[in-house]
Order: sequence, then C-alpha cells, then structure tokens
Amino acid sequence: MRVLVVEDEQKVADALKEGLETEGYDVEVRATRRDASARVEEGDVDIVLLDLMLPDGDGLDLLSEMRGNGRRTPVLVLTARDTLGDRVTGLDRGADDYLVKPFAFDELLARMRALLRRGRLLRPTRRAVSDLEMDLLTRVVTRAGQNVELTPREFAVLECLLAHEGEVVSRATLVSEVWKESARSITLDNVIDVHIARLRRKIDDPYAVKLIHTVRGVGFVVREGVP
Ligand code: CA
Repeated sequence: MRVLVVEDEQKVADALKEGLETEGYDVEVRATRRDASARVEEGDVDIVLLDLMLPDGDGLDLLSEMRGNGRRTPVLVLTARDTLGDRVTGLDRGADDYLVKPFAFDELLARMRALLRRGRLLRPTRRAVSDLEMDLLTRVVTRAGQNVELTPREFAVLECLLAHEGEVVSRATLVSEVWKESARSITLDNVIDVHIARLRRKIDDPYAVKLIHTVRGVGFVVREGVP
C-alpha cells in the first residue's frame, strides 16, 4: 500500500513517514501542491494524506484537480484549521475524511484502514469480453454460460488479459503482473506459451468465435474478432 503524504512541515512529514513505514506502508512525501499533483498523475498511489496549507497553494485545489481528472484515490485531509467551514468545504470538494491536527496516530491508522477498505470495494469484481465472463470474487469463469475450470495461474493470466481488454499484453507484462518476476527468460516464455495454449483449449477451441489472439513478436490480446 503506497501512501502519498502531502505536507510541507518537515517535522510532521518525517513523523508521519516514520510511523507509517513502521506499520508497513510505503510512504512518499511531497511538500508542495505542484510536486504532489505530478506524483498523483504518475499513478500507483493508494491513499493521499493531504495538508491544506501548502507553500504554493491550497490542498483543496489539489483535491478538486484530482477529482476533476477522474481520480478516485481516497484522500484524508489533515487540517490545522479546526473550523466547520473547512470541514464542509473539504468534504464538498471530494475529500473522503479529515482529521484535525494534532491527532492521535492510532486514530489516523484507523481512518486510513477504513478508507483503504472502501477503496478495495470500488475495484472491479467482474470482467467480461463477448460471452466470456470472470467473477473475480467467486473465481467462477464462464463462456456462453458454461463453466470453465481454470487453475489459479490460468485464472491469473486470463484476468491480466481481460484487465487490458483490447490492448496487446506483452510477455514482459505477464511476467511482472502474473509471475511477479522482474525479467523475462526463455523458461518463463515457455511457461507463458503453455498457459496460453491451455487457456485457448478451454476458452476458444469449443467455440466459433476466438477471443485470445497472438500478436507475433509483441504479445497477446483478448478481443472479439481479429486484432
Ligand atoms: Ca502546511
């Protein structure tokens, strides 16, 4: 879980970073609105802890910008301004929760856990292309309403392909997202081929419309019809 701490007071930022790292979070700190905005746009942030008074602007403007760009990353506002007006404004502009400084660290952890749980609930629970459906919670896969039995690894490969539906998924992407390895190897390439072949046998062979396509020299794509 990656936490972005947007805080210009060095002491506060250091204390948050140290405390959160002890709890197992990956923590990055940005001290200005501009740097924080750039970091948010890079993606891969699970939650933002946002100070409101930043040297180059108001944290609430960063919040509006994020929501305007369609980012739903949970934002917990940390404010020293304990006035009802600020709270209402923060929540109106897309904050998920707020804490008034100074706060107890345990309280912060509890609020963060609640927001991260809620964030997980917003993740997709189902993927589909054509008449192929995957339920990511029950792990049931069907094609044309018929159950398809997959091994956990086959399921992970198919989930990765469907997460990128219509886009070519490179072998390097499969290696990192499914096998969690940093580099390709001949052995891994062979293992990928075996899994793709098995998926084709189960998902495409019995049906007229093929969904898994090889893009030679690039990777694989799941879509209805020729890539
Ligand atoms: Ca500040």
